[in-house]
Amino acid sequence: MHIKKQRLLTPGPTPIYPPALHAMMASDVHHRTEDFRNIYKAALADLKEVLATSHDVLCFAASGTGTMDAAVSNLFSRGDKVIVCSAGKFGERWAEIAKAYGLEVTLLSAEYGQVVTPDRVEAALKAEPATRGVFIQASETSTGAQHDVRTIGAMVAKTDAIFVVDAITGMGTMPLDIDNWGLDVVIGGSQKAFMIPPGLAFIAVGPKAWKHAESANLPHYYFNLKKEKKSADAGESSWTPATSLILALGEALKYIKKLGMPQVIENAQQLAAATRLAAVAVGLELFAPDSPGSAVTAIKAPAGMDSGVIVKEFRTRFGSIVTNGQGSMKGKIFRLAHVGYFDFADLFSIVAELEIILNANGRKVTLGSGVAMAQKFYMDAVAAKAAAAVTPGATATA
Ligand SMILES: *Cc1c(COP(=O)(O)O)cnc(C)c1O
Repeated sequence: MHIKKQRLLTPGPTPIYPPALHAMMASDVHHRTEDFRNIYKAALADLKEVLATSHDVLCFAASGTGTMDAAVSNLFSRGDKVIVCSAGKFGERWAEIAKAYGLEVTLLSAEYGQVVTPDRVEAALKAEPATRGVFIQASETSTGAQHDVRTIGAMVAKTDAIFVVDAITGMGTMPLDIDNWGLDVVIGGSQKAFMIPPGLAFIAVGPKAWKHAESANLPHYYFNLKKEKKSADAGESSWTPATSLILALGEALKYIKKLGMPQVIENAQQLAAATRLAAVAVGLELFAPDSPGSAVTAIKAPAGMDSGVIVKEFRTRFGSIVTNGQGSMKGKIFRLAHVGYFDFADLFSIVAELEIILNANGRKVTLGSGVAMAQKFYMDAVAAKAAAAVTPGATATA
């Protein structure tokens, strides 16, 4: 009981893939050399491959918010009418950025735990045909809910607006057919599904978005998409790249390619599904039960108990770092992550820890009841896969 390993189990930063961490030690390189150009080119090409898109995929030294800022400042003009779909803290961030740049925002907000439904977006697009852009989170990390970006993308595609998707925790946790779903701009960040530390932000820019860039007149300097594309085509970044993180990214992408992106997504989906079952089995209530995403599962603290107590006990008893609710949800929910380098062994221990924490705080739970649900889910998934392998034409559902 004396040794407690720190386990980083949050939806960003996520646990680091060890070979990626080790690769960072080779960062005593100069970025304007043939060697580094090859590394950078390979990382961008692999990123494009795992995202399965023909869009231009660019990278900046920034946290994810940097490319959210870039999307607004490069693709819009002051006074442009835009729709922001907001279902939590990160949706609010889109509205804040758009307003900071003088865009005229129509806010479609959903209560925390709910999502903005496609019919609301369709109605708002009809009401304002001059709309230039629609902003959304594929996965709203503050609540664990997931938007139907496929249906909304098809609606936006019929208009002159571009669809700008913050997929920072959507990538690697849900299917995203960037080219065919009308996702004109898609944004990612290194510290989520990519299993490496914070500091790189990604942006996939499609042809409709580039067309917007032609007439956009907002000021920008560091985040210059056109300049960055020119640099990327030459195997370079416009400014000094975060070399250590690029080395880490290259290593992590090799691993993601080896697993296959669909398998990385399935991994998160399986962990999320098992987590939901385990949470209910220990008597807890899910926070976003109608549209649960697979990046993170938000769980309500038991009545009369502050979720901060649970978060603190995870850390003090076991060294496990999990997250509280954000903003108005602080103290009410806690969040267990599945995006990136998480496995079932992580989940079994998290649930076992949770059972102990609940009991220690006067919430009677049969020890092992949640863990058993997660174990059963795992066994069923393995069995379904084996059955699918011997039955031609059958598909695994787990
Ligand atoms: C993590 C995250 C961000 C980016 O936050 P940064 O702190 O700037 O990396 C944006 N949107 C969502 C949905 C996120 O999960």
